Amino acid sequence: MTALEVRHLHKRYGRHVAVDDVSFTVAEGEIFGIIGPNGAGKTTTVESIAGLRTPDSGSVSVLGFDPVKDRAEVRERLGVQPQESGFPDAIKVAEALELYSSFYRNPADWRELIELLGLTDTWNTRYKALSGGQKQRLSIALALVGGPRIAILDELTTGLDPQARRDTWCLMERVRDRGVTILLVTHFMDEAERLSDRIAVIDGGRVAAVDTPAGLIARSSAVRQVRFRVSQPLDRSVLTGLPDVSRVEIAEGRWLVTGRGQLLSSVAGALARARVVAEDLRVDQLNLDDAFVALTGRAPESPEPSEGRGD
Ligand code: ATP
Repeated sequence: MTALEVRHLHKRYGRHVAVDDVSFTVAEGEIFGIIGPNGAGKTTTVESIAGLRTPDSGSVSVLGFDPVKDRAEVRERLGVQPQESGFPDAIKVAEALELYSSFYRNPADWRELIELLGLTDTWNTRYKALSGGQKQRLSIALALVGGPRIAILDELTTGLDPQARRDTWCLMERVRDRGVTILLVTHFMDEAERLSDRIAVIDGGRVAAVDTPAGLIARSSAVRQVRFRVSQPLDRSVLTGLPDVSRVEIAEGRWLVTGRGQLLSSVAGALARARVVAEDLRVDQLNLDDAFVALTGRAPESPEPSEGRGD
């Protein structure tokens, strides 16, 4: 079942094209990541999905509903995090959840959400007294309080310390396990790689690629490197003759083999045939950062986690 369908979305602000041509679909139950450089059109895309912006052309379907024409239907099914600036400092956690749940026809049980999000101890705490991590978890709870089938979560862990980030990731997996489809906009490549079933890379208002994290990495992994020591003397030609190998360097007993395709299995096979054991074998691991650079030609932004504990 398709949860979201975006078709040829186009949106300009004056003469500036923010989203040129964006299309993707998200299946129910997926965590779908959106990554891209600053100004790529990510926020405009998700705000169009949420009905907060009206596209100039193209279409958006949220479980079959149009976010602009069927605003009320979409509001009941799609959860978004409220703007932080919209909170009165004096509101307490439980009051905020109770208030927001009153806006929906079939809200989730906010007491259960408090527990799920690890906010039980703070139910009577005022907003201004919450830590960064607690505020972030409250905003996730508020995105879920309407009992949505889809949640849009934007910059989920910006400003959180490493432990709070990991806790939030586990939480996202629990939310997904409850059947909620998640659209995740993030600047953090590790977060996108860890959480997303599939990722859209948006660049210059267009979709540069949609794939699983492993699929995106594989696209950029044209070049690979394998490092090792050998258990006994080996003739360099054993490796230079392999079709996947482009370069063999040997320095201070360490071999560095560069190549493409199935480099590791080619090298391992050749060593086995020569009855040589590779010691300290290391394959240089590519990650989503490499894929991002390969697809957009730019290094991913890395928002700094906060100095203090976020939690
Ligand atoms: P970031 O990662 O920096 O948040 P983004 O990928 O979310 O960027 P958008 O916020 O969608 O990108 O912006 C896309 C382009 O449209 C940018 O060049 C931005 O400056 C411009 N833009 C966004 N909102 C407006 C607006 N209300 N009026 C004019 N231009 C806008």
